[in-house]
Amino acid sequence: MEVVVITKRGTLIGRMQPIHNGHISVIKETLKEMDEIIIGIGSAQISHTIENPFTAGERILMLSKALTEHNIDPSRYYIIPLEDIACNSLWVAHVKMLTPPFTKIYSGNPLVKELFQENHYDVITPPLFNRKEYSGTEVRRRMLNNGNWEKLIPKSVTKIIKDINGVERIKYLNQKEVSQL
Ligand code: NAD
Repeated sequence: MEVVVITKRGTLIGRMQPIHNGHISVIKETLKEMDEIIIGIGSAQISHTIENPFTAGERILMLSKALTEHNIDPSRYYIIPLEDIACNSLWVAHVKMLTPPFTKIYSGNPLVKELFQENHYDVITPPLFNRKEYSGTEVRRRMLNNGNWEKLIPKSVTKIIKDINGVERIKYLNQKEVSQL
C-alpha cells in the first residue's frame, strides 16, 4: 500500500516593520513542528509612515536575507506579501486565496487569532521572546532616539536598513508627521 505523506504547513503573518530577533525565533520554533512555514508580510500596501516605514519589497528582502543568515533551508518557507482588505470577516478567505494550503496559524495578535478561529483553523499562540526589546515598536523608537536598535535585529537586516537610509527615513517621517499635527 502506498503511504501518502502530507506536508505539515503553518502560517505566520506579521507587519514585520522591521524584521527583528523575535520574528526569527518564532519562525525557528514553528519549523520544529511544521515541515514548511508560510510567512505573510502583512499590510503590504502600507509604507512610509512612522508605524510602517518599510515597503513590502524591502521587508521581503530583509526577511529572505535574515533567514539565509540563520541558515534556514529556503525549500521550507514561502514569503508572501498580503495587502489588507476593508472587510475583516472576509480576510481569512483573502489570505487563503494567496497562500499555499495550510492547517495551523501562529499568531499572538488577538484579531488574527479570532478571525482564524472563527474559520475553524488550528490557532497557536507562540511564546514571546524578550518582547520588551524584540518588538517593531521598540526598534523604531530606538531608531528615532539614536538608541541601539541594531542589537534587536539580524545583522543582515541592519545592513539593508543602512543601505536604504531607513533610519533617516523614519526621522524624516517623524518630523513631517509632527509638523502636520
Ligand atoms: P507583528 O509583526 O507585530 O507580529 C507578528 C507576529 O510575530 C506576532 O503575532 C507574534 O506571533 C510574532 N512576534 C512578534 N514579536 C515577537 C517576539 N518578541 N517573540 C516571539 N514572537 C513574536 O505583526 P501584526 O501587527 O500582528 O500583523 C498582523 C497583520 O495582519 C497586520 O498587517 C494586519 O493589518 C493584518 N490583518 C489584516 C486584516 C484585514 O486586512 N482586514 C485583518 C486582520 C489582520
